[in-house]
Amino acid sequence: MTTVLSVTGLHKVFGTQPVLRGVSLDVAEHEVVALIGASGSGKSTLLRCINLLEPVDDGTIRLDGEDITDPRVNPDKVRQRIGIVFQAFNLFPHMSVLDNVTLAPRRVHRRPAAEARAKAMALLERVGLADKAGAFPDRLSGGQQQRVAIVRALVNGPRLLLLDEVTSALDPELVGEVLTLIRDLKADGVTMVLATHEMGFARQVADRVCFLDGGVLVEQGPPEQVFGDPREPRTRQFLQRII
Ligand code: ADP
Ligand code: MG
Repeated sequence: MTTVLSVTGLHKVFGTQPVLRGVSLDVAEHEVVALIGASGSGKSTLLRCINLLEPVDDGTIRLDGEDITDPRVNPDKVRQRIGIVFQAFNLFPHMSVLDNVTLAPRRVHRRPAAEARAKAMALLERVGLADKAGAFPDRLSGGQQQRVAIVRALVNGPRLLLLDEVTSALDPELVGEVLTLIRDLKADGVTMVLATHEMGFARQVADRVCFLDGGVLVEQGPPEQVFGDPREPRTRQFLQRII
């Protein structure tokens, strides 16, 4: 089993507030890990640290064995290997769908435009949005925009995909199409860490569920165990409150 991501003893402090307190987490190739926990428990901060959008205060993050928290590491190079999608769609409004998707490969990777375009079109085809390639984001539904954002995060062929509450900003009737896409990506073997409020979805799609509380990874295990028979009283309380 190949370990893609290995987080060890991660600490993050904002001002005087400890937000991650010794989080350790390994993710295997093709594995889907769901982060659950109350608002403010540190899920987004953990994802942002993994993508080097936040400096860490202690601990290490390894991607394919390489310590990416080493100050000699170029964060832009790391981010080419880790895709991230946020809650709000973050597409550039003044660019077509295709330009949004091909921006990174063209600018960062210096790939020829034709190659980037072919890859992007293949992915848009795959998610049923090829006919929207020339459209601007405001012509798309929220669910379509979020699927484009996911395509954009995949276009570099990342080793790891991070998804932060990607359905939270969507109207309920649009959530399904995004969850279906995530399920398809899992079937394709994409390694993912996703923060979610959708417990039913976490239960169905995740290989492993991690419960964060106050910046501590309190409990992790297969969904049947964490949801069906939580070991920790704090996990039990959280699940009782929300289900
Ligand atoms: P979650 O995603 O689980 O809701 P977050 O990681 O967003 O949790 O937040 C964890 C804690 O860190 C919260 O108390 C939040 O207010 C705080 N926090 C997050 N980002 C910042 C920031 N840039 N500056 C200061 N505090 C922050
Ligand atoms: Mg969050």
